[in-house]
Amino acid sequence: MAEVLIKNGVVYDPLNGVKGEKKDICIRDGKVVAEVKNPKVIDAEGRVVMPGGVDIHSHIAGGKVNSGRLFRPEDGRKGVEAKTKVCRMQSGYSVPNTFATGYRYARMGYTFVMEAAMPPLAARHTHEELVDIPILDNAALPLLDNNWMTMEYVNSGDMDLLAAYMAWMIKATKGFGVKIVNPGGTEMWGWGKNCSLHDTVPTFDVTPAEIMKGLAEANEKFEMPHSIHVHTNMLGHPGNFEITKETYDLVKDIKPAKDRQVMHTTHTQFHSYGGTNWGDFETKADEIAGYINQNNHATIDIGSIILGDTTTMTADGPMEYSLYQITGRKWTNHDVELETGSGITPFLYSGKSPVNTIQWAIGQELALLVKDPWKVALTTDHPNAGPFIGYPIIISMLMSKKRRDESAEDMQ
Ligand SMILES: [Zn+2]
Repeated sequence: MAEVLIKNGVVYDPLNGVKGEKKDICIRDGKVVAEVKNPKVIDAEGRVVMPGGVDIHSHIAGGKVNSGRLFRPEDGRKGVEAKTKVCRMQSGYSVPNTFATGYRYARMGYTFVMEAAMPPLAARHTHEELVDIPILDNAALPLLDNNWMTMEYVNSGDMDLLAAYMAWMIKATKGFGVKIVNPGGTEMWGWGKNCSLHDTVPTFDVTPAEIMKGLAEANEKFEMPHSIHVHTNMLGHPGNFEITKETYDLVKDIKPAKDRQVMHTTHTQFHSYGGTNWGDFETKADEIAGYINQNNHATIDIGSIILGDTTTMTADGPMEYSLYQITGRKWTNHDVELETGSGITPFLYSGKSPVNTIQWAIGQELALLVKDPWKVALTTDHPNAGPFIGYPIIISMLMSKKRRDESAEDMQ
């Protein structure tokens, strides 16, 4: 019987209402229990003891992450740490190697990370990399939104067929839940175009709205543990907050099969923009947070910006092309036949850029304005809005107005 006693730590356990009390924690066979008889004792004096951190949306393994490493050798030369007796060799900053990914998350107290975009055809590679990441538990969300079968089944209106296909896909890819990225957009990008919520995707005669609604219904029919996990259309476009709100409305009347939301939208900072162009670009975080506060069928993660250099990577190919056009830096694009695609380009979030500073504020506004903490999760959509090792920076901002004010001061 493996027993552990963690003594003298300051314990935080939000689920049980423990907010910073000095307590002993007893563990037997991996579970917290009331008492132990012959434990291994760990002295946590001066330390915080809390449940392991869970990152619900990050890009840590798979085709585009690996391409990002190959694509940015200059990034791989940062953060190099030699092998030690217990650790393997680490390298990389915004696209760290598998070893650095595990160690750096663990150092921040995280124990679980979700790889948020797995092309089904690349599932083997993704799992191979996930297995290579030390310490962390992990899982992956297969991309099902631009899949030709999905679009055909949505078009046919046969929800049983769509749910059966979803079930097979989850089993075949060893996936955890359904990921949707710019629905219809990858297919349109094959023709050099992008699409918004009600545009018709050629050949399949479906709209992004129909794809999302269909997958949400099938997801509930199949009683998946997680709701659909959505990167909505028109990421990063001024004025897109209207599309984001309309996307939530699409699934408002769908009854969840479990006690949870029907839709989770990810890196919502990138989808909470007002204005009509980069000149009159403004925050609409209050509109999005207001919607989340008033409704229970949608949750968000924030996708907060960390100022500095990073590597953007997403299945939203047309968006990466737009970014490349803005920056003129190197860019790569990939099509995964019949199902999805991706793009990668480096990006610098600068405190001297008015747009970047507003983006910086929006992520934090979302976190601070949503009243129920169970409806909002901290993310940077690693590495898109910044590498995950910057989480402590964001946490300090969210906990301290003084810190936010000081940082805002530096940006002027
Ligand atoms: Zn993402």
